[in-house]
Amino acid sequence: MNQRNKGNESRSYGKKAGFSKTEAKWKTDDPKKSAGQWKSDDKKRPVGQWKSDDRRKTTGTWHADDKRKTDENPRQAGRSVQTAKRQPKVPGAYQCPVAHKCGSCAYMGTLYSEQLKTKEKFVAEQLKPFGKCEPIVGMKDPRFYRNKVHAAFGWEKGTVISGTYQESTHKVVSIETCLLENQKADAIIGTIRKLLPSFKIKTYDENSEYGLFRRALVRVAQSTGEIMVVLVLTSPILPSKNNFVKALRKEHPEITTIIVNVNDKHTSMILGDKEQVIYGKGYIVDELCGKTFKISAKSFYQINPVQTEVLYGLAMEYAGLTGKEKVLDAYCGIGTIGLVASDKAAKVIGVELNRDAVRDAVVNAKLNQVKNIDFYEKDAGEFLLQMAAASEKLDVIFMDPPRNGSDENFLSAAVTCAPEKIVYISCNVETQARDLQYLTKHGYRFVKGRGVDMFPFTGHVECVVLMSRVEK
Ligand code: SAH
Repeated sequence: MNQRNKGNESRSYGKKAGFSKTEAKWKTDDPKKSAGQWKSDDKKRPVGQWKSDDRRKTTGTWHADDKRKTDENPRQAGRSVQTAKRQPKVPGAYQCPVAHKCGSCAYMGTLYSEQLKTKEKFVAEQLKPFGKCEPIVGMKDPRFYRNKVHAAFGWEKGTVISGTYQESTHKVVSIETCLLENQKADAIIGTIRKLLPSFKIKTYDENSEYGLFRRALVRVAQSTGEIMVVLVLTSPILPSKNNFVKALRKEHPEITTIIVNVNDKHTSMILGDKEQVIYGKGYIVDELCGKTFKISAKSFYQINPVQTEVLYGLAMEYAGLTGKEKVLDAYCGIGTIGLVASDKAAKVIGVELNRDAVRDAVVNAKLNQVKNIDFYEKDAGEFLLQMAAASEKLDVIFMDPPRNGSDENFLSAAVTCAPEKIVYISCNVETQARDLQYLTKHGYRFVKGRGVDMFPFTGHVECVVLMSRVEK
């Protein structure tokens, strides 16, 4: 453990979530000053620039599950290993009749073993400048892994359809079952399709901006079986609300909560700000790595529960905690990584921008009776700059930023806080490589890295990297 940490435990770094009195007074310079100001080595970066200001505006606009902005089609967003195109038929490989229209699955029609090889190669190439990677971890059964499913609703040839928007259009591609999605979630969406006409509820049309029912979002807690259904409407009033709930629950008694979310904006963002719980407690509870987690409609929660345990297990293995460390869980979402680490650390601090997620994180700490963890609702870069300015030290940083990676605020402050280890988890190995370049130039070396296939059939891959401080 870093000896300088001792005695500093009570210092506060900002507004601690769940505790209103602790707003810290910072004596240091405004940490925002350096945001987005790039120094000499900018141009050499492998991917774009850090658009540091972008993410600060985004509280509530990040899409809850995919580490992307909500204005992207959840099935198509982000640059990835490979973009979707028609795949030749390969014997033994899974096929999907709408793969080319939906655009989600770059590897539909490719044998899973081949998908893994391609992703492993991609990760290895991206991280080659830093060192060698361990083999990718794939799934035993790569199907039906998505615990969160959303469907846009529309109207075609006199029937209600649901699915995804065809890329760059307002046209809903009808999808009744999907190889990626939890099958119960698909069945619930099917029942909603059936119920809408009998309740005379009109589906929303993106072109005319007319209609009530925009989307349905279903979240399934794999280990507890709890299910949340979010009905996204253009107005708060769902006709015959109680009967609708009754009819839906009659076919799916496993639904534990139903929420109406109001999104009346002409936007492709999925969820609006207002929500009303019309059945149950308004959240679901899941278990992961031996801990219990409360999940709200808008909070980020990893979408592949089987591989999340693999991913977090790997992150813990890389961190090699002994029980003495002071740990930061940056971009912590509902606090999953920090809470899993808390048993093996002296103190954990979590920082996250999304208010709902931070609230969940605070509840999660209580649910699990974890007392050595505090959560802060703040931009991770600003937060860490404040810690660095207050000469706080850290032993281990877990960082798990969204697709566009971290920023210079965060990375420069991370270097100042001088943790022995940085465990960098990423769903975009290109921005991860850009950030690793910064760390390698500022006193860190790549120790190991490994891809985890969190998103079979799609062109996305998750990657964990261990960076270690070079002793001077
Ligand atoms: N580690 C969590 C969440 C990772 S997703 C888990 O494994 O579940 C990335 C998270 O970063 C999201 O919860 C998002 O809301 C948050 N985020 C995005 N930009 C941020 C920023 N600038 N500062 C802090 N958190 C941010």
